[in-house]
Amino acid sequence: MFNWKILEDEMDELKEKGLYTYIRTLESPQGAWLEIEGKKVLNLCSNNYLGLANDERLKKAAIEAIEKWGVGPGAVRTIAGTLSLHEQAEKELAEFKGAEAALLIQSGFNANQAVIPSIVGKEDLIFSDELNHASIIDGCRLSGAKIIRWGHLDTNDLEEKLKTYTQGRRRLIVTDGVFSMDGDVAPLDKIVELGEKYNALVMVDDAHGEGVLGPSGKGIVAHFGLEGKVDIDIGTMSKAFGVVGGYVAGNKTLINYLKQKARPFLFSSAPTPADTGAVLAAVRVLQSSDELVKKLWENGNYFKEEMKKLGFDIGHSQTPITPVMLYDAKVGTEFSRKLFDEGIFAQSIGYPTVPKGKARIRVMISAVHTKEDLDFALEKFEKIGKELKVI
Ligand SMILES: *Cc1c(COP(=O)(O)O)cnc(C)c1O
Repeated sequence: MFNWKILEDEMDELKEKGLYTYIRTLESPQGAWLEIEGKKVLNLCSNNYLGLANDERLKKAAIEAIEKWGVGPGAVRTIAGTLSLHEQAEKELAEFKGAEAALLIQSGFNANQAVIPSIVGKEDLIFSDELNHASIIDGCRLSGAKIIRWGHLDTNDLEEKLKTYTQGRRRLIVTDGVFSMDGDVAPLDKIVELGEKYNALVMVDDAHGEGVLGPSGKGIVAHFGLEGKVDIDIGTMSKAFGVVGGYVAGNKTLINYLKQKARPFLFSSAPTPADTGAVLAAVRVLQSSDELVKKLWENGNYFKEEMKKLGFDIGHSQTPITPVMLYDAKVGTEFSRKLFDEGIFAQSIGYPTVPKGKARIRVMISAVHTKEDLDFALEKFEKIGKELKVI
């Protein structure tokens, strides 16, 4: 019989090191404030950047989609699961992303599993930023291509590696757009230049960029004015868009090819009508006004400035993501617990989500926070920061 005690021991060890994840259960919808364990707490850790997860317009669109199309997709996209609703959402999403075509995938995680192994294989090389998201890393591994890691954001290192590693049928450069744990932004303009110079494909995962960067939150490609120059733009509908799902945007050849080859597209059922309807509504909300995006940045900038004034180390974020660097995972857990007691929900993040010794509380600012909410958070951070001698 398998000795499950070994796994229990392993988890005990994680607890000792402050690396065990305790899951908090929400008893309310997403929003600036949440109810958790019967307590009202300020929400500083969801990816609901624009408040769309509980937006009336998106809810209405999801309900209408259910009424019209039912709840389940019934099949994978290639058999009987493609609805005209999916195609409408893909069309408008492509327009929003400034791309020729787009393809919905069940999630952002799946989008990486769909694209990378379809485009590159054993004969190929992948150049991957060392801090890329786990779903990119897994997609790269799944492809069987040789993976060459380049220093985080370091395009000089990337260029050196492109010069050194020239073998292979194809070469793919892949990077996160916004790095979710630090809030820094990939130098995509420089990366595209290198892709052109060294004849490598360029792929960006814009999960934390869409709804945040660029005019109307169109994402990192629009932020750098690189429409049509980034070969593969993937992302998620699960963050700023407030729903769930992933997508790939690019030229028609890429999208048609993925419809033939991408395994999550071929072998996992289509996104649900409700999610697809809500995604379409999210795109339309962003197309119609940049008010939420502006509010998000205003809130993010205010919070970061004030945290700096209080003496916190908040890393090098260029976006509303605010990593409050504590380094020691145990201090992170303790800080988070004290915040919770004071009415603030902000999880500590440690290894393996961030490198060892780089634990932090990652504050996610949203357009739905009011100035009073942010001031409340600042007051509590100051109090606990002093208690734990972090500031
Ligand atoms: C969150 C995230 C994903 C996963 O997206 P889901 O839609 O939640 O599966 C993929 N890539 C990056 C860079 C992310 O930050």
